[in-house]
Amino acid sequence: MNLSIRLKILDRLYALYDEFVGSLDVACQKYCAHCCTRNVTLTTLEGYRIVDYAEFCHKSAWLQAVKSASRKKRFQPKITTNTIAEFCMRDRCLPDEEVPLKCESCPLLSEDKCSLYQARPFGCRCMISKRNCHKTGFAEMDEFTVTVNCVFLQTIEHLDFDGGSGNLTDILLCLATEKNRYAYQTKTLPFTKWELIPNQPMKVLMIPPEHRQEMGPILQALHRITL
Ligand code: SF4
Ligand code: SF4
Repeated sequence: MNLSIRLKILDRLYALYDEFVGSLDVACQKYCAHCCTRNVTLTTLEGYRIVDYAEFCHKSAWLQAVKSASRKKRFQPKITTNTIAEFCMRDRCLPDEEVPLKCESCPLLSEDKCSLYQARPFGCRCMISKRNCHKTGFAEMDEFTVTVNCVFLQTIEHLDFDGGSGNLTDILLCLATEKNRYAYQTKTLPFTKWELIPNQPMKVLMIPPEHRQEMGPILQALHRITL
């Protein structure tokens, strides 16, 4: 499947998820940005979408911000969501991940607003809370929403299964050059050099039995988006 079709599918997945969030009662609002940290992760396909959008809008300030952020501590995942699903299916132990608890703001955050909001990755779209995190110190999400989030994360990784995943800073730095965007399109991107991990196809969905019925309409809508 060529890149432009995958980007179109990604947009439809984002739209479907935004529709789901629209049906929830959440405390999230404009200029609330406590969740916008340097720990955001995404796939290379989503990174490509962000860089493409930034170029289309003639925005360039993001690159310097991302370059400065590359010297700072951030979460760099060792395992993707589809690998986690497979490990769980096989009852294998997951590797320990180092998540910096105290983490500065996301490099794309400017005056408490996302500078590339329209193209923000799924990891940001699914960061929602029933109560304002500033007051509680953490995001509050019901278990069904966590399941929906996992299924979308798995689906997006599957869509980009010959790409990689990683921290937003690493992925954007990598895809900032035309040479690397070409390497991504031709499946020759050296993931390790950019601290990225290879994506995996979806083999099993992480849906607990108690959510299977409620997930039905969402799964049907996902199936209608041809993968
Ligand atoms: S997840 Fe928390 S910090 Fe982020 S927008 Fe929602 S309420 Fe605000
Ligand atoms: S990409 Fe945008 S929405 Fe996501 S964490 Fe950064 S500033 Fe926030």
